[in-house]
Amino acid sequence: MKILVTGGAGFIGSALVRYLLNHTEHQVMNIDKLTYAGNLESLISIHDHPNYQFCKADITDMACMERIVEQFEPDALIHLAAESHVDRSIDTASDFINTNIVGTYSLLEVAKNYWLQLPSNKQEDFRFLHVSTDEVFGDLAISDAPFKENTAYSPSSPYSASKAASDHLVRAWHRTYGLPVVLTNCSNNYGPYQFPEKLIPLTINHALLGKAIPVYGDGQQIRDWLYVDDHVKAMLKVLESGEVGETYLIGANNEKTNLEVVTSICHFLNQQCPQRLNGLSGFEELITFVKDRPGHDVRYAIDSSKISSQLGWKPSESFATSIEKTVLWYLENQQWCKNVIECDHMKHPARTE
Ligand code: NAD
Repeated sequence: MKILVTGGAGFIGSALVRYLLNHTEHQVMNIDKLTYAGNLESLISIHDHPNYQFCKADITDMACMERIVEQFEPDALIHLAAESHVDRSIDTASDFINTNIVGTYSLLEVAKNYWLQLPSNKQEDFRFLHVSTDEVFGDLAISDAPFKENTAYSPSSPYSASKAASDHLVRAWHRTYGLPVVLTNCSNNYGPYQFPEKLIPLTINHALLGKAIPVYGDGQQIRDWLYVDDHVKAMLKVLESGEVGETYLIGANNEKTNLEVVTSICHFLNQQCPQRLNGLSGFEELITFVKDRPGHDVRYAIDSSKISSQLGWKPSESFATSIEKTVLWYLENQQWCKNVIECDHMKHPARTE
């Protein structure tokens, strides 16, 4: 199969691209604008693979997308490219509106026009997989049941609102034009190669640098944490066997408060690198509660019974082992962290962490 991946130089996209090339025979075309969050260093291990092509391009550029699609002739398109960091969306929403909404519109139009001229057997098999987030549902009270596929949308941040808009566009292109789409809404991911502005890599990085580890509010916000490789396997299940027009929620049934996540990382680092404590009794001493994020969602939780009962997907990784695997990866790849942070500072000199 020929698979066009957008956002394949980001955290989840690069895990997907590495998986496709290491574990399948598929040909992959990776389209990425290489924003601060996209780094080709995350793809060094596969960048010479004969089934891999990369094109630096912006998904909002419809003419360029059209050329790429016409030349590559994909059997499927997996759309991950997005602006993804809630705090940045609160600072400045325009990139989120452009990439997440206008960019998704541009890809839908290009995919629709391409799909319409395919022979009927190819038309039937073509898929547009839209990768989205559980944040589109807003938040839950502690006593609420987890999100399901039919939970009403109620996004809180500019990021989640832009993703919600993109989900609606994708469904409309299916209903109105018949484009064969499938959608996924996934919980918080963690794992290697995540840009160190997100909670888990930020905690590890700050601990190792002896810097304050910021925790929003009282740290009691709850997220359902899923290891990135499990997300990749779920996406491929949906691509291969998901029903056209359907949405699948993906989660790990692993709810943790932000404070629990940060504390478990500190405990593991205490054992792994006591030599870097520099007089602290534990890395927990660096935890600093900071003013809460405006509009901060209290709790996300996912009921993933649809994907597990209909498609046979279940997460295979436990949080306890995967968080340790993740911390060890960051310990062994501190140069990657340094490089991507330096690169971000070069692209956005005014931005402080
Ligand atoms: P990321 O920020 O790490 O990567 C996004 C990638 O998109 C980057 O490589 C970036 O360069 C690229 N990109 C941004 N704007 C672009 C544009 N205009 N044209 C082409 N490429 C562009 O994000 P991520 O965490 O890997 O998330 C990937 C997708 O999964 C997003 O759509 C996100 O909403 C969704 N998602 C993420 C999570 C999570 O926990 N990280 C959970 C659920 C869903």
